[in-house]
Amino acid sequence: MRGRVAVVTGGASGIGKVTAYRLAAEGGRVVLVDCVDAEAEAKAIAGEDGRAWGIVADVADEAAVGAAFEAVASREGRLDVLVNAAGIGSPRPITIEEATLAEWHRLCAVNLTGTFLCCRAAIPIMQRESNGAIVNVASEIGLVGAPRSAMYGATKGGVVQLTRALAVDHAPDNIRVNCVCPGPVDTPLLRQACARAADPEAKRRREIESTLLNRLGRPEEIASVIWFLASTEASFMTGSIVVADGGVTAR
Ligand code: NAD
Repeated sequence: MRGRVAVVTGGASGIGKVTAYRLAAEGGRVVLVDCVDAEAEAKAIAGEDGRAWGIVADVADEAAVGAAFEAVASREGRLDVLVNAAGIGSPRPITIEEATLAEWHRLCAVNLTGTFLCCRAAIPIMQRESNGAIVNVASEIGLVGAPRSAMYGATKGGVVQLTRALAVDHAPDNIRVNCVCPGPVDTPLLRQACARAADPEAKRRREIESTLLNRLGRPEEIASVIWFLASTEASFMTGSIVVADGGVTAR
C-alpha cells in the first residue's frame, strides 16, 4: 500500500473502520467517507503523520459522492483503491409483504446505488493511471436465501453482479474489481439487527450457530480479506466473489 491512495466508504464503523486502519498500517493514504463524522476516526488513524482524512457524505447522494471523489482527486492526485463498505441492514426483520416501498428504496439506495455511485466516480480517476482495485462488500445473504432478508439479500446480490460486470468492463483499464461476502460479523450493524429482533439473545445465538466455526466473525478477519484483494498480492484476481462467512454457506 505504500504510496497508494485508498477510499473506504463506511469508514467510521465496523468493517470499514477496521479496513481503514489496516490499509493505513500497510502504508497507504486513506480517505474515510461516511455519513457520520468520518474525520474523528481519520484523525485517530492518522496520528501525527496525516495519512488519513475524512469526508462526510451520504453514498446514496449523487452530488455528495461526486464532490467527495473530486476532493480526493484534487487533494491526492490519484486513487488506487476503493473499498465500498458503507451499508445498512434491513430496518426490521420483515417478509416482503410487510415491507414498505420506502424501506425497499432506502436499502437499495445505500447498499446498491451507493456502491454504483462510488464505483462510477472512482473509475475515471483510476483510469488516468491505468491502475486500480475496487473491493465491494456484499454479504453471504447476497448468495443464498435467508429468512426475512429478501430486501437486504436482493441489494447484496446486486452488488455481487455489479462486481462481475465491472470486472469485465474495466479489465482493459487494469482496474480489478472484486467482492467479499462476509457472514455474521460482530459489528454495530449486527448488534442493531439482534436488538431489533423479538428475542435479541436468541437471534445472536442463531447467527453464531449458523456458522461452522460456531462464532461470529471479527471485523479484522474481513479487513484482512479486503486488504488482500486490494493489494498486488491478488494481482491475478478480478471478478472474484470471495466468501468469508465462517462456513455459513458450506452446508
Ligand atoms: P456498521 O454499521 O458497523 O458500519 C457501516 C458504516 O456505513 C457506518 O459507519 C455507517 O455510518 C456507514 N453508512 C451507512 N449508511 C451510509 C450512507 N448512506 N452513506 C455513507 N455511509 C453510510 O456495519 P458493518 O457490519 O461494518 O457493515 C459494513 C458492510 O458489511 C455493510 O455493507 C454490510 O452490509 C456488510 N456486511 C456486514 C455483515 C455483518 O454481519 N456485520 C455481514 C455481511 C455483510
